[in-house]
Amino acid sequence: MHSYSLIAPAKINLYLEIIGDRPDGYHELAMILQSINLADQIDIRSASTDTIRVRCKHPQVPTDKSNLAYKAAALMANRFPDAFAQYGGVEITINKQIPVAAGLAGGSTNAAAVLVGIDLLWELGLTQSELEELAGQLGSDVPFCIAGGTAIATGRGNELSPLPNLDHLSVVLGKYRSLAVSTAWAYQTYRQQFGDSYLTDTQSLTSRASAVHSAAIVKAIIRKDGVQIAEKLHNDLERVVLPEYPQVAQLRQVFQEAGALGAMMSGSGPTVFALCESHEQAQQVKQYVRTAIPDPDLELWLAQTCTTGIQIATGAK
Ligand code: ATP
Repeated sequence: MHSYSLIAPAKINLYLEIIGDRPDGYHELAMILQSINLADQIDIRSASTDTIRVRCKHPQVPTDKSNLAYKAAALMANRFPDAFAQYGGVEITINKQIPVAAGLAGGSTNAAAVLVGIDLLWELGLTQSELEELAGQLGSDVPFCIAGGTAIATGRGNELSPLPNLDHLSVVLGKYRSLAVSTAWAYQTYRQQFGDSYLTDTQSLTSRASAVHSAAIVKAIIRKDGVQIAEKLHNDLERVVLPEYPQVAQLRQVFQEAGALGAMMSGSGPTVFALCESHEQAQQVKQYVRTAIPDPDLELWLAQTCTTGIQIATGAK
């Protein structure tokens, strides 16, 4: 095959706990990540030249070497120089549907799609764990995006334990178009404000992170109990993002009032999501929020939790 179309789903965080500082300088995290069917489409094809090219019409997405999809292709070229020489360069076209800088891992899922796409294009036959190892070099959320579904992520976010699939929950997402939160800013501010309470010794970090495996929300996920999952949603980064962005705090509040099972900010925000038990409930919540906040800057989406990460849509010679 000389080209592939891949579906790259976004993720939401059902749980995000910042535990402390790791010896490698990263935060130790305990997260529960969930794929949703709001997705970008990534088209990847072999090029006759030996270059990597990224195309994307979205004004906030760079098409140079700073694009995470470019970085993923460069990593593959560097790791598999013989295949790169044999198959030539790659052209990557990103059809962006996932809002940018939104806490939905948009860049990370694009990078994961490029790893999967080049593995297919160059007929490398990499295993899921080999792909996840490469993904870990590109960013903390990238390994999860490969297989997606529902998973616990500890360490920097790259140590994954799959959970039973949650395929029955509807999700409403809300984001102000003009608001973007830098993930780096959110974590740095959290460290400045709450660093005093950080754990730092390796053993305490590991044991506290692994405690998430027996958390109430994990038990609720295993039981597929939407009401309890929604009740136990948690995100430490709300402590820094909500006071800085009152609009986001208000949106979260309105989602709650709208009758959703629960609402929370995803990742470093500013996207807020509401969990709903049915598509009908999600539509009602969306309508309520639209009426309560008529601001045209507020974008709303309906989505569904999904059980897969990167999917092949089509391949062609
Ligand atoms: P995360 O949830 O993993 O922290 P995010 O959803 O908050 O990520 P992204 O959408 O990945 O954030 O965008 C973060 C920044 O990365 C943007 O400001 C954008 O300029 C840059 N970027 C680089 N490559 C991409 C890409 N392929 N898609 C989107 N943004 C990209």
